[in-house]
Amino acid sequence: MKKHYEKELAASLERGKKTYKSLRSLQTAFTLLVLIIFVSAGLITAGMFELLYRMGFIPSAALTPVILPILTILACMLIGTLLSLLFSRAFFNPLRRLIKANEEIKRGNFRIRMDERTHIGEMTKLMQSFNSMADELEATELFRNDFINSFSHEFKTPIVSIRGFARQLQKDNERRLLTDEQRREYTDIIAYESDRLARLSSNILLLTKFENQQIVTDKTEFYLDEQLRRIVLLLEKEWSARGIELELELDEVKYSFNEEMLSQMWLNLIGNAIKFSPDGGKVRIRCKRREQYIEVDITDCGEGMDEATLHRIFDKFYQSDTSRKSDGNGLGLAIVKRIAELAGAEITVKSEIGKGSTFRVRLPVGKQM
Ligand code: ADP
Repeated sequence: MKKHYEKELAASLERGKKTYKSLRSLQTAFTLLVLIIFVSAGLITAGMFELLYRMGFIPSAALTPVILPILTILACMLIGTLLSLLFSRAFFNPLRRLIKANEEIKRGNFRIRMDERTHIGEMTKLMQSFNSMADELEATELFRNDFINSFSHEFKTPIVSIRGFARQLQKDNERRLLTDEQRREYTDIIAYESDRLARLSSNILLLTKFENQQIVTDKTEFYLDEQLRRIVLLLEKEWSARGIELELELDEVKYSFNEEMLSQMWLNLIGNAIKFSPDGGKVRIRCKRREQYIEVDITDCGEGMDEATLHRIFDKFYQSDTSRKSDGNGLGLAIVKRIAELAGAEITVKSEIGKGSTFRVRLPVGKQM
């Protein structure tokens, strides 16, 4: 690891030297330009004096008024050239550092930042925009790493479990050490984990599809209240088995959108309300027609969420510690958020620990994408 880092550092220095050489030529060009300007100015002045002398305006070219300006110009040329060499160095230094910092970014080091204080005007702006670009890249990189970690964790856990129990069953084919009950338990676990994997894959596919989608296609007009009732029926097995009561208060409202997409949003929200409700609890679904929008509230009297959880529930793969035990993969609300974005809808959550949560969706009327 250390050796690899040293190699990288040496390569970086080598690259730095090359960059410096090309900069040096830029600096030389800048200095030469100043020199050419000075020489041209001197020659033009001398030429003018020569012309004036030939036209008889100046009696002798050797006269002090002629020699003196030429000497002055020569001195100016020399001093000016030296000064431009010095100034150009100071002028190019921040750029040189910026090029090095860009090289670092190119190599994937997003932690590098430029000093904004020592520069003025455009330079300060350049450094500031470089720093904000590096901030953005670092945040994206962190998010990507986090996503990849969660993604591989979510996939690996069920696979490891399936492999472990399948191997146990394989061994048992030869030695017959497991009881019937153990064998049943192992096959149940394999079936459960396979279901989890299947759900995870379809949720990832769904989220990727919605994330890549910019325009909503296949829009139709349908009754929103009917759609909500259908979802409640679809989830009947889940709520009736646990004695959960569903209370519906639905205005008859027509809505125009991709029906399947909106169904997915209700399925995830109502599914969560049931999942996080205690046995024998109550879930209330309300749909109201307002002037500017249609308001859908999904309220449960479950465990509720604290501020920290509320802050992260729409993140991909986020599950609060207590819900890790329950089925789910933390993608449901990320999908809900994306659908809401595509619908131009506003989604808010109110929750209190021990009392329950309300998810409120406000669907705009007549200005969806
Ligand atoms: P999951 O598959 O875990 O349900 P979601 O994205 O749907 O994933 O939800 C993310 C997390 O938000 C859940 O794990 C849970 O901690 C929290 N959450 C969502 N809905 C509720 C709710 N109605 N009551 C309490 N917590 C909830």
